[in-house]
Amino acid sequence: MLACPPSLTQPIIATMRLLPLLTFLVLCVSSIAAEPVKPLRALMITGGCCHDYTNQKRILSEGLSARLPVEWTIVHDVQLVDGKDLAASRDHVSTAYAKDDWAAGYDVVLHNECYGAIKDEALIQRIAKPHKEGGVPAVFLHCSMHSYRTAPNADLWREIVGTKSMYHEPGAILTVKPADAQHPVMRGFPAEFVTTEKDELYIVEKFWDTAHVLGQSYSEKLKVENPVIWVNENGKYRSFATTLGHPNSTMERPEYLDLVARGLLWACGKLDAEGKPLPGYEAPKR
Ligand SMILES: [Zn+2]
Repeated sequence: MLACPPSLTQPIIATMRLLPLLTFLVLCVSSIAAEPVKPLRALMITGGCCHDYTNQKRILSEGLSARLPVEWTIVHDVQLVDGKDLAASRDHVSTAYAKDDWAAGYDVVLHNECYGAIKDEALIQRIAKPHKEGGVPAVFLHCSMHSYRTAPNADLWREIVGTKSMYHEPGAILTVKPADAQHPVMRGFPAEFVTTEKDELYIVEKFWDTAHVLGQSYSEKLKVENPVIWVNENGKYRSFATTLGHPNSTMERPEYLDLVARGLLWACGKLDAEGKPLPGYEAPKR
């Protein structure tokens, strides 16, 4: 009988010995590829002064859940005394921040809060820490940009937000135009977005080097384009922010919810260069 030369039989035998291992590895890889993406675990912190947070938390959670796979934990403190909500104030300390590791277990935190009179430096440190040191992605909406602004160490918060703003102009119909229409977060945003009702133009007086303007609205008073949408990235964490969103009617707009959904995905590293969600992070099928 003819026999294979030793130089040919040895690799074949070696391959046959490796076959079970190779099969096992192929099965492992295919099972990993088939593993469905887990929904993003999002913490929404909302409440404080001056806005309809009861409805805004519904608008945001429902609107974003229709656009991306997400599981919400919502903290909205309400303290009704004689029909008045004592927690709906500028100096209420949200119970969301009770623990040092308040953001543990979450993939992203959405801040839609209005706590502008809080000056507690230890609290600001505790709020900033999971983002600044832990790298937890953040989304900041409207009055979140004015929260904690009078605290001596407010820059800890602003560094994550990416800007400093101390006041807004009187309510007005705002026209918003892209400043960087090619950025993934702005793909799909209209060339001109006009608010349905009066919104508030937050005047940005300082921009961190790590922040990048995506959308702006003209201030007639200051005669300048003023940033209203931006992203912030410093290597440790990413955040997305828009100062739009005083009235519910702004938040209800599909263009707004699409924008915040892309911003949230971008902050989490789940948006591609074309502004599309990475595989598994598309809008859930209904
Ligand atoms: Zn407002």
